[in-house]
Amino acid sequence: MNFIEEIVEKDLQEGKNDGRIQTRFPPEPNGYLHIGHVKAICMDFGIAERFGGVCNLRFDDTNPVKEDTEYVDSIMHDIEWLGFHWGNVYYASDYFQQLYDLAIRFIKEGKAYVDEQSAEQIAQQKGTPTQPGQDSPFRNRPVEENLRLFEMMQAGEIEDGRMVLRAKIDMANPNMHFRDPIMYRIITTHPHHRTGRKWNVYPMYDFAHGQSDYFEGVTHSICTLEFVVHRPLYDYFIDQFVPQGEYRPHQYEFNRLNITYTVMSKRKMLQLVKEGLVAGWDDPRMPTVCGLRRRGYTPEAIRAFIDKIGYTKVEGMIDLGLLEHTIREELKEKAPRVCAIFDPVRLVITNYPENEHETIVADNIDGIEALGKRNMPFSRELWIERQDFKEEADKNFYRLSPMGREVRLKNAYIIQATDCEKNAQGEITTVYATYDPESKSGTEGGNRKTKATINWVDSVSALDAEVRLYDRLFAVENPSADERDFRELLNPDSLKVVTAKVESALKTAKPQDHFQFLKQGYFVVDDDSTAEHLIFNRTASLKDNWQK
Ligand code: ATP
Ligand code: MG
Repeated sequence: MNFIEEIVEKDLQEGKNDGRIQTRFPPEPNGYLHIGHVKAICMDFGIAERFGGVCNLRFDDTNPVKEDTEYVDSIMHDIEWLGFHWGNVYYASDYFQQLYDLAIRFIKEGKAYVDEQSAEQIAQQKGTPTQPGQDSPFRNRPVEENLRLFEMMQAGEIEDGRMVLRAKIDMANPNMHFRDPIMYRIITTHPHHRTGRKWNVYPMYDFAHGQSDYFEGVTHSICTLEFVVHRPLYDYFIDQFVPQGEYRPHQYEFNRLNITYTVMSKRKMLQLVKEGLVAGWDDPRMPTVCGLRRRGYTPEAIRAFIDKIGYTKVEGMIDLGLLEHTIREELKEKAPRVCAIFDPVRLVITNYPENEHETIVADNIDGIEALGKRNMPFSRELWIERQDFKEEADKNFYRLSPMGREVRLKNAYIIQATDCEKNAQGEITTVYATYDPESKSGTEGGNRKTKATINWVDSVSALDAEVRLYDRLFAVENPSADERDFRELLNPDSLKVVTAKVESALKTAKPQDHFQFLKQGYFVVDDDSTAEHLIFNRTASLKDNWQK
């Protein structure tokens, strides 16, 4: 059990909230979900599942400037894809009237005032953690005036940025969040995705989040550590209208997920998308849920990763290698092996009869019968990797060279290279070899050992495929800690595209099908792939090539 599960179990034992467990996942619909959010999702939904409670989805939609229904839809889709089920779907905007009424009550009780200073002036008066702030000249205006001005703000009679509503708490409080935090601001420039033009004032996070939790009956409001300093304010606002001893939600915090060689901020991801530095939110290099999916990550692997890293109260950084390890572990067991030749050169088997062809039957995964077999056409002309032939090989090179060494064609025959042909530029265009008809894999002669096995694809039936070799998005380990702009830190080699020759069996591959291209890595069929234009995305290399 993680430390929050222990708290929940204790609460249950003590009969808190009559044994009711209710959590929520509260995304702001201003971007797509990323793997950091998945950590929160696994916690919020996980608690509800484990303890027989309910987890609701609540869109924290209090800033119409940045929010959109496109994001609402993608968030719901991603959560379902991950395999979680919410109870209800709520929106902070459902509570705009209640929150407004509460603000009026605060004003009437002398707990809030309309400030006419600019954001800069307010910031200047904030003080520092060791120095008290200064009172606003508008702090003590009469209740009636505050009421009238706040109503004018909502009526659309005041320009954006000209006034805000602030809580009147304590400008000297050592917790900066208590120094008369802003409760409401004016936004008239953008319609709200659900309430349209009804509201001209919108509540700030601190004035909306705890109350929304309370209105819904949340018992455990779980978030990340940066909210620890907000917790006293969360409690303060609730204390103003909920009598002591009655039900109230409680906030708990765990450490955020940060991963090396990437950024975990919607704002930065939006910039990458808008500036065309990636192909979209679902670019396979993005740490978004849709990006990971397109990269070939499965919900199981992503959830296994979150399980592995666990929850603590200390911030840290997780090695991207661990995420890659998790998907490798899963695909190792289930991705069929196939041949794909990335840098093809022609191989002619001179003693194999012309116009003859045969079918090699190969295990999808060597030695795992349950995963089935596939047919590989074989004939006199094949494609092999350019690097598997060397005209002049030293004694450590065990693959093809005209020096007479025997090499096995994977799942097929043993061959020996005899010669090669070059073009005017000196580039090898064809390798010639002879084969031993008695050496076919699966027959008695198939047991003969060679020092090397190479991959091949029959040239008559081979298909061309676009293969996108993705790598880490950033060139530096922690882009967020770097003083340079994060866009200057992108890995220039994060995408290379090759046209490969692949086995004809891949003709029927469908988006989201996984394969291991032998010796190359794990690949997934891209969403845009068709039988006429096959596209594969590299999910992960076979090994961690980056380990120091
Ligand atoms: P970002 O910083 O990427 O904009 P955010 O915190 O503003 O993210 P929200 O939509 O407000 O995004 O987050 C919804 C929930 O997801 C919150 O409870 C938040 O604590 C959690 N969350 C966001 N990022 C992470 C992360 N990196 N690790 C764990 N939880 C996260
Ligand atoms: Mg947020």
